[in-house]
Amino acid sequence: MRFLSTRGTAPPLGFADAFASGLAPDGGLYVPESLPDVRPLLDGGAAAYPELAAGFLKNFDTDHTGEQVDDLAAASYAGFPDPDDAAPLVQLDDNTFVLELFHGPTLAFKDFGLQLVGNLFADQIARTGEPINVLGATSGDTGSAAIHGLADKAGARVFILYPQGRISELQERQMTCSGADNIYPVAIEGSFDDAQRIVKELFGDLEFKAAARLSAVNSINLARVLAQSVYYLHAVNRLPGDKRTAPRFVVPTGNFGNVLAGWLASRMGMPAGGFVVATNRNDLLQRLFTSGRYQPGTVAPSLAPSMDIQVASNFERFLFYHLGADGARTAEIMGRVAAGETVDVPDFDTGAFAATRTDDDGILRNIADTWGRYGYLADPHTACGFGSIDPATPTVVLATAHPAKFPDTIEKATGERPTHPTLEALKSATPQNVTLPATAGAVRDYLETNILTA
Ligand SMILES: *Cc1c(COP(=O)(O)O)cnc(C)c1O
Repeated sequence: MRFLSTRGTAPPLGFADAFASGLAPDGGLYVPESLPDVRPLLDGGAAAYPELAAGFLKNFDTDHTGEQVDDLAAASYAGFPDPDDAAPLVQLDDNTFVLELFHGPTLAFKDFGLQLVGNLFADQIARTGEPINVLGATSGDTGSAAIHGLADKAGARVFILYPQGRISELQERQMTCSGADNIYPVAIEGSFDDAQRIVKELFGDLEFKAAARLSAVNSINLARVLAQSVYYLHAVNRLPGDKRTAPRFVVPTGNFGNVLAGWLASRMGMPAGGFVVATNRNDLLQRLFTSGRYQPGTVAPSLAPSMDIQVASNFERFLFYHLGADGARTAEIMGRVAAGETVDVPDFDTGAFAATRTDDDGILRNIADTWGRYGYLADPHTACGFGSIDPATPTVVLATAHPAKFPDTIEKATGERPTHPTLEALKSATPQNVTLPATAGAVRDYLETNILTA
């Protein structure tokens, strides 16, 4: 299978190259040249999760042999307590189900993409014999999922920048207590924006980027999106037979990665009765999918911090398909978005999507209601989806984080204080990190002494 850029001018690449480049040279995102039919994978749950993942990925990754893809998939779910059911489906009432995506090493759904990414990098290092140094900035979850995807992988070092004192202690400990000696968490004396600016600047210096063998783990990587489509198929497989024909998926959303993965699966033949885009108060996507207008606002902190985003990077892939795979038109519209213009999506029609927005009061209310009604603790991100349940429609709510990651919010809403052994163990672990000033020069010096070059 080849992969095309959404902006239409970069040359098509195979899976391994599209994975390794992340962003296409014309600024676009890679999408598969054609969408396979995944209906043969809808086997009513006969396949264990890693087999399902391998069956799905073989359609796209034709650079590896089938056996290699099997191994990649097996390795990517080995860190889950029950790899064969990596994403358990929990029934709350006749028609309402929760797909729990928080059983991976960092207790959030990003593990699904980043465990696979870690193994693909390890494979690339083994194949080329060349080391890589991953550099990224994080406001929380992505950094720790990347760290746990690459911890102890030979030939890889990981440098994650985060704003000092501006992420939760638990989030910081998830990054600084990995115990792996190829992991370099860096607290930056500044904001998340400073950390991101430094990363951009260092990647922008192409000579340094090449000499330091820098790689990124950004949210637009093709492999992350594809890995995420798998759990939608798993959910359909695990639904009772009479609920499987057109389930509605409710998806807590930040940059549109998670919901895009489901929508793509539906374009490949997976039955779906629609997708609900669930945002917090940062409602760019809720407004977009009600009005067709892309108009970023300013980011405001919320109780669901991993969705505090006003840039929907993965929307570009949806737009490309919406425009009939017209790369030139996609490039034109994304150029206007990048210039800060408000853009109306041409021929907009809500289609398969509905949208909902939940502010902080609503998050607390939904957590309390879900606890009262079903005895189920939903984390603040998942709670954004729980305001839009129609009891008459088979519905799968995607649960994106473990409630124990947000004990204060859960306790405020329900009086319960959830815990998790992984998080308890972090409290007594020894953190390992450095603190650097918020300048690209300081980070560059630090990288130069710590990267792997051969
Ligand atoms: C990243 C994240 C989201 C948002 O996912 P997108 O792919 O950005 O839509 C939602 N919930 C949690 C817990 C996350 O970490």
